[in-house]
Amino acid sequence: MGNPIHDTLLAAHAGRDTVFLHVPEGGTVSYAEFLGRVAQFAGALRAEGLESGDRVALQVNKCPDALALIFGCIQAGIVFLPLNTGYTAEEISYFVENSGARLLVCAPANQPALRPVAEAAGAACLTLGAEGAGSLARRADKAPTEAPVTPRAPDDIAAFLYTSGTTGRSKGAMLTQDNLLSNALTLVEAWRFTARDVLLHALPIFHTHGLFVATNVILAAGASMVFFPKFDPDALLGWMPRATTMMGVPTFYTRLLDAPSFTAEAAGNMRLFISGSAPLLAETHRRFEARCGHQILERYGMTETNMNTSNPHDGERRAGTVGLPLPGVEVKVCDADGTELPRGEIGVLEVRGPNVFKGYWQMPEKTAEELRADGFFITGDLAQQDAEGYVTIVGRNKDLIISGGYNIYPKEIESLLDDQPGVLESAVIGVPHPDFGETPVAVLVPEAGATPDLDAIKTTVTTALARFKHPRHMVVVDALPRNTMGKVQKAALRETYKALFT
Ligand code: ATP
Ligand code: MG
Repeated sequence: MGNPIHDTLLAAHAGRDTVFLHVPEGGTVSYAEFLGRVAQFAGALRAEGLESGDRVALQVNKCPDALALIFGCIQAGIVFLPLNTGYTAEEISYFVENSGARLLVCAPANQPALRPVAEAAGAACLTLGAEGAGSLARRADKAPTEAPVTPRAPDDIAAFLYTSGTTGRSKGAMLTQDNLLSNALTLVEAWRFTARDVLLHALPIFHTHGLFVATNVILAAGASMVFFPKFDPDALLGWMPRATTMMGVPTFYTRLLDAPSFTAEAAGNMRLFISGSAPLLAETHRRFEARCGHQILERYGMTETNMNTSNPHDGERRAGTVGLPLPGVEVKVCDADGTELPRGEIGVLEVRGPNVFKGYWQMPEKTAEELRADGFFITGDLAQQDAEGYVTIVGRNKDLIISGGYNIYPKEIESLLDDQPGVLESAVIGVPHPDFGETPVAVLVPEAGATPDLDAIKTTVTTALARFKHPRHMVVVDALPRNTMGKVQKAALRETYKALFT
């Protein structure tokens, strides 16, 4: 028995001295060097007494060593859980306890706060910093650059990836070797990645987008990536002439558009821009194409399933849609009972395929609620599929507003509001109302320097939408609350405006 991820993503490149990582602060890491470092981390973890199937929690800053540690876990058969660098000690305590991790690896500066958290959960605490610093990195320095590869079956768990916690407490999605590998190979094909590609990588590596989509695709293709510690438009633009592809969240694209130096010429060497993790406004798609001639390719996925749908590489990329089901992935739009609805109707999106996770760690009830016995996963997203198969995400089931017994899809109102003069973007939420149960409230963000005319907008809304959909209140704010992946925090907005009518 082999170790599918190690065999395909790493061992396949043994001895290659082509570049895997360009480090913007200086230098490169070749494939051969990376494999050596991965083996050193596998050795250091084994020396700590960790065994196949044990869990290791990681709250580490983005750097080449952090990636080598993650793949060191793969090589040693250890289940890793990458954690958001923004999480507080209290939050980390939940993840360490929930996962039963035997080791927590954190940034050196956080160790004083996190060591007690780890110890309280019966875990050890070691550190990893940028530029090779940290107690675990020092142990790795002493380990050999060749190490055994622990055998793992395709169905064995490779990682627990905790969901972003947009709709409630984060859940630990158990992802198998095959979930991750099959998706990476599918995406290489779908997006035509080859060893010649150079990816601009400015995403965090604690989330599926930066870790499993971006990194695994690059490894599967034997390509290279520019590994930015964070998103900085100027740094990105500095590298763009040497790059061919980019993966980003929608805010990366709006921020690139804010940079006057982002032009068709600046993007002259690029072949593909990919967006996901949150909805890309059709407006951004159009402005981007007008500016540099590229149509952003939008795709849709989630922690539990990796990627499900994608606009085509060759073929029509439809703004505002997330494209077609990826090869091997089945999607259907259903009612609450799981009965498929006629094409074109809005319902809950369900997906099935080799990409779909094994369940939530230690949450059998939650797993049973969302993962059907026939393998379909209930995504919790509301969607619509057109005659040609293109999927449009209409919003999350939990954001659906039910007012006086009528269903209101926030996206319909948001799309109208976004098109109004002076409006950059909007979020429509349901807030408690004594007569209607819930009623829509619109939160608007103005374009730079603009003051939207709320009376004019109300008039437009009145003529365009049925009465029950009219926002009962509109507020103008500087910016919508977003998490690091650019997801609008609607729960936070609902909390802010919950007492408007009560
Ligand atoms: P939680 O499950 O804890 O509430 P979360 O769903 O935000 O958090 P993720 O797995 O990071 O955690 O995000 C997946 C969700 O992101 C999808 O269910 C979908 O709502 C949204 N999403 C991802 N890509 C897109 C896209 N291209 N367009 C619209 N929504 C998207
Ligand atoms: Mg989710």
